[in-house]
Amino acid sequence: MAATAPGEPEAPLDGSPSGIVERIQQQAERLHISIGAICNNNCVFCMEEDRDARYVNNSAMTPERVRWMLEENRGAEEVCFTSGEPTTNEHLPTYVAWSKALGYRRISVMTNGRRLGYTPYTAQLLKAGMNRFYISIHGHTKKLHEGLTRTPDSFEQTVAGLDVIARVKRLGVELHTSTVVTERNLPHLLTIYRFLRAHGVDQVVFNVMQANGRANTYFEQIFPRYTEIASTFRALLQDEPDARAFLVDIPLCTTEGVPDFNRGYVERYKHFDLADQVNLPTENAEERRQQGKGKGLVLVTRQDLDEFQRDKRPECASCRYNAVCEGVWRNYLRRYGWEEFSPVPPAP
Ligand code: SF4
Repeated sequence: MAATAPGEPEAPLDGSPSGIVERIQQQAERLHISIGAICNNNCVFCMEEDRDARYVNNSAMTPERVRWMLEENRGAEEVCFTSGEPTTNEHLPTYVAWSKALGYRRISVMTNGRRLGYTPYTAQLLKAGMNRFYISIHGHTKKLHEGLTRTPDSFEQTVAGLDVIARVKRLGVELHTSTVVTERNLPHLLTIYRFLRAHGVDQVVFNVMQANGRANTYFEQIFPRYTEIASTFRALLQDEPDARAFLVDIPLCTTEGVPDFNRGYVERYKHFDLADQVNLPTENAEERRQQGKGKGLVLVTRQDLDEFQRDKRPECASCRYNAVCEGVWRNYLRRYGWEEFSPVPPAP
């Protein structure tokens, strides 16, 4: 099963190379740890459609296994607790403290942020060493956000979480958001951007849906065309030329004209899943199992999970972005075909 929550953000970091190709090529790999057996939201686009499989997999990430993963991957540039809703796992503060003691410099969580509105809980995470928060929020109003999360009161709670983290940024904590772009919130990108910046968000990431899980089930209702998304994002940048807004997980040929600074990418990461839950489509599946070192786990990378679900066509070979492009979701191509994707000639 996929271990990541929908739409993990990545955006340019200060001091990183400015070109999108170089940034993608030079990114460091992160460690993701999947600890949320359940989620208290019910997002219409969630890529983790198989709740039972997620429950089995993430429930098996016991403290002993988490400790082993942390020890095994010391030196990774970031550890991110993710999948399901990680704050529903009572051990999260302990895991954060372990990460800090083991020398992880950046310790993050991908969360709907609802529990962060409880200041004592957030204080526990901060004290343990968490220093980056990725909060998922999909609209600037209750109606828009909760229409997508299908969870009453999730808007007020998520915004309360955002506000708590914004107040502690002076301690060196980073606040990023992830907004999954759908037909419903696409017309409001600029307003959402301004709303989030007004709430103290450092980086506003607009994540294009992965055409898997529920996003595939409800594709016809919620999945906009890439070209529509790109043109709406370009319009946002005309109104906010210095925006700290980033468009992530969209083929680069559709976002020509968007400054490289505002083009993000889905980060490279590895994680471990239960060995008997995953059917790895890689040639070296056995070697990956061995990397679980007798813990009943298998090493999985995002590329493993994506590659067999995305496609390129022969024309892609001449594209400037071919080396870093992962291709287009097959589920997207089944609906809309190739007409939006034209190879971009190499830079002169
Ligand atoms: S390689 Fe193909 S899909 Fe990827 S950006 Fe280029 S034309 Fe688009």
